[in-house]
Amino acid sequence: MFAAARDVTERKRLDQVLQEKNVELERANLAKSDFLSSMSHELRSPLNAILGFAQLMEIDAATTTPSQKASIDQILHAGWYLLELINGILDLAQIESGKLSLSGERVSLSDVMVECQAMVEPQRQTRGISMTFPRFDIPYHVDADRTRLKQVMINLLSNALKYNRPGGAVDVEVTAAPPDRVRISVRDTGQGLAPEKVAQLFQSFNRLGREATAEEGTGIGLVVSKRLVELMGGVIGVESTVGVGSVFWIELNANTDPSPDIETPGPAAAVQPQMITSGSLRTLLYVEDNPANLTLVEQLLGRFADVRLLSARDGTLGIQIARASQPEVILMDINLPGLSGLEAMKILRDDPLTAHIPIVAVSANALPRDIKKGLEAGFFRYLTKPIKVNEFMDTLSEALTFAEHGARPRT
Ligand code: MN
Repeated sequence: MFAAARDVTERKRLDQVLQEKNVELERANLAKSDFLSSMSHELRSPLNAILGFAQLMEIDAATTTPSQKASIDQILHAGWYLLELINGILDLAQIESGKLSLSGERVSLSDVMVECQAMVEPQRQTRGISMTFPRFDIPYHVDADRTRLKQVMINLLSNALKYNRPGGAVDVEVTAAPPDRVRISVRDTGQGLAPEKVAQLFQSFNRLGREATAEEGTGIGLVVSKRLVELMGGVIGVESTVGVGSVFWIELNANTDPSPDIETPGPAAAVQPQMITSGSLRTLLYVEDNPANLTLVEQLLGRFADVRLLSARDGTLGIQIARASQPEVILMDINLPGLSGLEAMKILRDDPLTAHIPIVAVSANALPRDIKKGLEAGFFRYLTKPIKVNEFMDTLSEALTFAEHGARPRT
């Protein structure tokens, strides 16, 4: 009897220890996510100023000398590359900590290819490389996370363009891989890789002797791609011949569900931002505590929009100004002193005086979970820093149209 009683006490004690351990683990996981999120924020904030003002200078090309223009190009090039690195490192950290959740959707490969093609087209033109995509006489569908699949494809395509020879070619092929997979291959005409280099290919920060070349790249993109493909239940691989080129391929599970495709937005065209004008002067409120960001948006609007800009340095002041001045659109930073941008937005949405005003988040909190949380909470759109001028102006024009007609235009 004593032994039984001791067993029960012992088990209870064990249960409690386990429970405490779980709470501890959960807390540690949460702390890790918060750390990643704030790291992303801290790195993106200064990049927003660097890339934002460099984009402004690029737009003012008429007043810059050729050597100034070359300097601006360098700043932009290095800046976007730094952003790519930051994103890669954060992705990897999230994957390693098991924090990345992927959706399994039915994805049309022809849709994905059209979008990817548009995205790498400027890079293709700069490098003067020819590129062919499959014609999709047979529609192929796979089980994948659409956004992450695009990320993998963009990585493979831009590597194939980057590590090619002058005047080279990139060929994309899609084939059935029986019994139930689909293979996407990206073939380049670069210098190819020796077998021992292929073996090290998917390791972090391994550039396979390209360190000595002018091309930047850390190999982090391939490491992330491998992890992502595996998380989608697929395989990634490479076949390479020195002097001939390489074929990077991925295989994903085919989706043979006959249901029709969900309509997806087409690729965004890369065009010069359009001037936003209208008969009446519209008012915009920007709630932002960082003076550099505020100046950036001020200057941007000065060039492209016929609007009056009001600003507030914190959420409380922002709410007061919104109620009093009834702006058409509000731009809202999230990390603000005192009231957060998220809280300020909720207050504005709940107030009949301001509930109709579209509020666009402009934030350096750029992890997918931040964006999801923001959109679910009621932001009209969620833009991440560093600001991309085209995307920023498009979104603004969309929000102004919404303010005018009370409906979202086709996106
Ligand atoms: Mn801020």
